[in-house]
Amino acid sequence: MKKVLLHICCGVCAAGAAHRLHEEGFGVAGFYFNPNIHPRDEYEKRKENLKHIRAAFDIEVIEGEYAPRKWFDVCRGFADEPERGTRCQLCYRLRLQETYRVSKEKKFDYFTTTLTISPHKESSVVFEIAKSVGGEAFLPVDFKKKDGFKIANQFAKEHDLYRQDYCGCVYSLLKRRSHIVIPWNSQNSRD
Ligand code: SF4
Repeated sequence: MKKVLLHICCGVCAAGAAHRLHEEGFGVAGFYFNPNIHPRDEYEKRKENLKHIRAAFDIEVIEGEYAPRKWFDVCRGFADEPERGTRCQLCYRLRLQETYRVSKEKKFDYFTTTLTISPHKESSVVFEIAKSVGGEAFLPVDFKKKDGFKIANQFAKEHDLYRQDYCGCVYSLLKRRSHIVIPWNSQNSRD
């Protein structure tokens, strides 16, 4: 059985992706690596959902480093970009690079990502970035297809999962809320 390391952005999306990979006969482990998520409480809430994924799909979930400063180092110059723009592409790349690195270190056959399940993300763009990161080691699965998003939503409902209402970073949060202080957003604040 071929082994895949699945980058997980959140528990809801992971349900649809893990279901599909199991259906297709892969051995799956999850990798929760999301330094983009702001604030920390939100990161923890999304992580908390993963206990349901572990139990339902009998998979190990590895947690990556929560290092939001690294994310800001890459994305801070693109605060005004619309979702799916340059900032998002840099954000995908950062997360995919680390997923690829860990997949090689832990001797997985492939890596892939839940990012393609979101109707807010273009799978072709995710594929292009992931292939440039990991070449043939990237498994290009469009998790939107075969009712992936619907299956994820059903799982979330059945397990009463926490549902976020913004993509993850402080800039996407700003679109939903006011009075947000953006940490590390000035070049002067870098240490
Ligand atoms: S909107 Fe989402 S994908 Fe885009 S930079 Fe923010 S967290 Fe990353």
